[in-house]
Amino acid sequence: MTGEISSLVLGTRNRHKVREIGRLLEPAGIVVEPLPEGIELPPETGITFVENALPKARTAALATVRPAIAEDSGIEAVALAGAPGVRSARFAGPSATDEENLRKLLREAPRGSALRYVCALAYVDPSRGVEKVFFGHCTGTLATTPRGSGGFGYDPAFIPDEVSGGLTMAELDDGAKDAISHRGRAVRELLGWLGR
Ligand code: IMP
Repeated sequence: MTGEISSLVLGTRNRHKVREIGRLLEPAGIVVEPLPEGIELPPETGITFVENALPKARTAALATVRPAIAEDSGIEAVALAGAPGVRSARFAGPSATDEENLRKLLREAPRGSALRYVCALAYVDPSRGVEKVFFGHCTGTLATTPRGSGGFGYDPAFIPDEVSGGLTMAELDDGAKDAISHRGRAVRELLGWLGR
């Protein structure tokens, strides 16, 4: 399906997502095109990751008349009944920093309790009338104290189940994070569907 695609517009202003998705698509020969200045993305008002990802991809695709992708992601704490979920970026307030959100998670969820990263990645190609959503998950537990300087967001407190030695996501190198991350998995689903 659409195997000739060599670039995709990415509907985000989040530099961490640009960097991670760029390096995940690059080995498949797909270049990430940044969202042009002046295009306003819709507010994240959905109650599911899909409801937030699809409008962002639609906006990017319709504004550029190009195939576009956008993702919505977050962290779910089992002890908090799935919170912060779609509100991960705003957990500690509307303009909270990554650090403030992380501190709130450490205050409210017990150390060692179960976590899950979720990513919904939407692909929209208006010229073909195609819309598709891909998912990726990564399970882990909450660290006692934040550790590591890689990644972003909640990574210093997220100990992935699939990594031995109790390292946090922020202590992994880029390749190790990409191999198990929710975003890595969702992008590989997209690539498989694109035939890459
Ligand atoms: P949004 O998708 O723009 O609503 O933001 C997602 C939020 O979830 C980010 O601001 C982070 O707080 C968190 N998040 C999503 N993916 C990751 C990740 O890979 N590592 C750490 N935090 C993440």
